[in-house]
Amino acid sequence: MMTVYFDNASTTPVDPRVMDKMSKCLGADGTFGNPASTTHGFGWLASEEVEWARDTIAQTIGADPREIVWTSGATESDNLAIRGVVEAMRHSTGRSKIITLETEHKAVLDTCANLRDVDVVYLKPDADGVLNLNRLAEVLDDNTLLVSVMLVNNETGVVQPIQEIARLAHQAGAVMHSDLAQSVGKLDWTVETLGIDLGSLSAHKIHGPKGVGALYVKRGSCRIAEQQHGGQHERGMRSGTLPTHQLVGMAEAYRIAAEESGLEIQRINGYRDRIETAIEAIGGIRINGARGVPHIVNVTIDGVDAERLMAAMPEVAVSTGSACNSATLEPSHVLQSMGLSRQEGLSSLRISVGRMTTDEEIDLLLDTLSYAVSQLRSAA
Ligand SMILES: *Cc1c(COP(=O)(O)O)cnc(C)c1O
Repeated sequence: MMTVYFDNASTTPVDPRVMDKMSKCLGADGTFGNPASTTHGFGWLASEEVEWARDTIAQTIGADPREIVWTSGATESDNLAIRGVVEAMRHSTGRSKIITLETEHKAVLDTCANLRDVDVVYLKPDADGVLNLNRLAEVLDDNTLLVSVMLVNNETGVVQPIQEIARLAHQAGAVMHSDLAQSVGKLDWTVETLGIDLGSLSAHKIHGPKGVGALYVKRGSCRIAEQQHGGQHERGMRSGTLPTHQLVGMAEAYRIAAEESGLEIQRINGYRDRIETAIEAIGGIRINGARGVPHIVNVTIDGVDAERLMAAMPEVAVSTGSACNSATLEPSHVLQSMGLSRQEGLSSLRISVGRMTTDEEIDLLLDTLSYAVSQLRSAA
């Protein structure tokens, strides 16, 4: 039996155009050289590819190419941003407070939890998942070094008012970081309109390869201490031989997203409308969070255990939230922070669609869901 994929918020298949571009940077006939080799053409050609990739990423997010630091993904970017700022600026500024949200990705939360000599304030969002700006204003002060709030939540699709959050953070003299991993190709933004100093990017959430990402570092805004030492690549902020194929793959994925996201979002808006209509018809299902990006729909299904529901519909691959948590049977920290009970959390499901999702697949999903929910409810 074929399983249809509805877990695009955890990762996406690589676009064939991206694969094609990546493969040209691997073999003996390709651009396999070390981009840091300056003594021969192999290195020069690879370096040209890397700089094309840097220019392309910078252009799609409205940054300067010199503001892009390559990393292995958004997890590393979050670590580099938060630990980097704390190590480089904690003593020189005398500031020792970080403000973040309880609903952030674990890459932010666990990084904050492992810092020494700083106080971390974890704000609770409103029940709709959105941060209340008054609550932020209450805790911001001249001891605040960093504010870290994501743009699009990976479990609910909820969008945070980053522009306003950044304005408040800057008024207090703090550095503003945002995890942007889920927002590329799903929302219209530039680093300029967001007003952030640091932004974490990933390739594999938008049909690029896994294992590559970047950190946007606004010039002149803050200092970052490198987290791995080596060849002083990336202007001393991140050492390590640059993986040409990965960077080119990420850039091609971002280029395609910038070009095609308008139409794609329209189509996916249509999918969400259909999902909402079907859910209403089934009854006893609530959508969690304020209306955000249409790609992610998180629902709580009354009287149905999500694990049992997933087992009852092997035709579709959905999830109970973040992939990082799916090994444990703990309900999602995001939903709990939004006020859902443990039982409600365990009755919740995330459906996330992507570029490859088709109309027919949505039909299959909705039929399957409707049938499985009624079976489980009548058996209860
Ligand atoms: C997937 C994801 C990450 C982790 O990104 P990697 O590139 O896999 O390290 C971080 N933050 C958010 C919001 C994500 O969705």
